[in-house]
Amino acid sequence: MIFQTAVLSILLCSVQSFTLQASFEKSDESSGNTIEDDDFSVSTLIEKANANLGNNPDDPLVMFGDIAVPTDLGNADPCTARGCLWPKATDGNVYVPYRISNQYSSRERNTIVQGLRTFAQSTCIRFTPLNRQRDFVDIQSRQGCFSFVGRRGRAQVVSLSRQGCIFQQIVQHELLHALGFNHEQTRSDRDQHVRILLQNVIRGQEHNFRRIQTRNLGTPYDYNSVMHYGRFAFSSNRQPTIVPIPNPNVTIGRATQMSPTDILRVNRLYSCNRTASQSDVEPVKRNQFL
Ligand SMILES: [Zn+2]
Repeated sequence: MIFQTAVLSILLCSVQSFTLQASFEKSDESSGNTIEDDDFSVSTLIEKANANLGNNPDDPLVMFGDIAVPTDLGNADPCTARGCLWPKATDGNVYVPYRISNQYSSRERNTIVQGLRTFAQSTCIRFTPLNRQRDFVDIQSRQGCFSFVGRRGRAQVVSLSRQGCIFQQIVQHELLHALGFNHEQTRSDRDQHVRILLQNVIRGQEHNFRRIQTRNLGTPYDYNSVMHYGRFAFSSNRQPTIVPIPNPNVTIGRATQMSPTDILRVNRLYSCNRTASQSDVEPVKRNQFL
């Protein structure tokens, strides 16, 4: 418990100083890859929204920026080969029950529902309102944006704070965690595609850049994945922390929605049947699902 508090306090302090620095300095680079250009990247938004994470004793331990870690396990390794997938129904769809807290305004709720709906448009994932199922996604406005990786069993909190997390790309990002996905830059083969500059990372935040033995599902590394962090994620000094290889100027981590590769991965991980998912996006049927 003391360790948790320590980790989260460091996150709190370092992210606050990051925000301050960012507002005082202005880079004169015009490459489109400056720290200011990353203001709306998923990781910048999450980093800002998670600045105060850890103040509430009910918050879980959060690592890798926004992944909640069950305290009895201590890490967030991929579990999709060990049974944390959501079950497939006989019709080929994967129904993931959800509940949305009544903390949200109707406008916020609508953004969240639209984000859930995007999965039905391109995959066999069907987020459906909770109807007495045992396992479900419990969407609440806690402090920051975070999620567990994969199905944990019973109610699992996905936090989408009203302060900073109500964006379609963040809804997709956090739900992709709940479906079993990790961050792109932690992929097993990431060292062939990005260089991590740990010397520029806020001290105590290095764990966000740890490599994981992910299942990559035969899909290419994707700089445009909604799960990819930005160039300056967790930077202590306004210098990049993630640089693409071989061309360091390629844009990374600016997705505003799931990339085609993100969609392909969901379809591969859940063995979505192309025919089944296409028939469900017809307007009449689509209204039944989210
Ligand atoms: Zn994340």
